[in-house]
Amino acid sequence: MTSRVPYAGQRPRDLGGGVRSVPVPIPGSPLGYTLVYAIDSPGGPLLVDAGWNHPDAWQALSAGLSELGTDVSAVRGVVVTHFHPDHAGLAGRVREESGAWIAMHEEDARLVKLMRGFGERAHRDFQSEMLRRAGAPALTLEDGARPEPPAQPDLELRDGDLIDLPGRTLRAIHTPGHTPGHVCLFLEDAARLFTGDHVLPDITPHIGIYPYDRDDIDPLDDFLTSLDKVAALGRTEALPAHERIFDDTAARAAEIRAHHEDKLVRLAAVLAEPLTIWEAAALMRWNRSWEDLSPMLRGMAAGEAAAHLRALEARGLIRRLPEVDPVRFVAVDS
Ligand SMILES: [Zn+2]
Repeated sequence: MTSRVPYAGQRPRDLGGGVRSVPVPIPGSPLGYTLVYAIDSPGGPLLVDAGWNHPDAWQALSAGLSELGTDVSAVRGVVVTHFHPDHAGLAGRVREESGAWIAMHEEDARLVKLMRGFGERAHRDFQSEMLRRAGAPALTLEDGARPEPPAQPDLELRDGDLIDLPGRTLRAIHTPGHTPGHVCLFLEDAARLFTGDHVLPDITPHIGIYPYDRDDIDPLDDFLTSLDKVAALGRTEALPAHERIFDDTAARAAEIRAHHEDKLVRLAAVLAEPLTIWEAAALMRWNRSWEDLSPMLRGMAAGEAAAHLRALEARGLIRRLPEVDPVRFVAVDS
């Protein structure tokens, strides 16, 4: 974690080569804003992400596009890098105003479908059972209103698909990890990579596993493989969804990989004694002390701990004790 530029310091920008960026605020979030990109084409601009669904965000997006000489009504399509509300939230509103299509990777489209059918009550029950199985003390998660699920996309993307953008070559690169259907978009004719949340200049995206005790997936391994995948594209300029644009995606991807490898080594070292997911999370290093994390942030930290435990298990370095509830993990050699 390092310095964050506040939203107030951001302006819409023409980045050259037919690419513009509009900072769209995320009300109440320390992340500040989402960078929405518009790529010009003779058939109207294409948006990469759309921002949080909030009146201030909508105002910033539409005013920003006008300031850059285009208009939200001209948008031909929105490619959403992943289903999270700060990326996909406004896509539905853009579609209403312009008739644009919305595209998303099929894995995230599947999650959106699930979320849209999942009531508030079912969501809360799911969370409390997940926390119990992780060994969390009885706690109430604050009931903060859940953001509305994003709009269902019109197009589902797969790895390698070319986006319908006349005159440009824009390819979807499936980069699972932060979400199962996260995509980066590679503007091949300009060696520019829209990285979404996959590769950010100063922070690392949340990599979690839900429910925490799943043993049939390995999102951290997926994420590390996805880092290698974008590094293999050669030297590219990164246009991320937060913070700022930077050079050399591959170098930053290598740093993020090293950060997680380091976290894995330190986590394995505390597992001489069997620990629950919650106990392991409390012993890991976060950007503030465990005591200072809100219940919501502890829940996310537990998700992140769970993803690291699962990766260590898949590498054969730790194992889960049979028939214990809550589940406990221990190093294989102890
Ligand atoms: Zn995200």
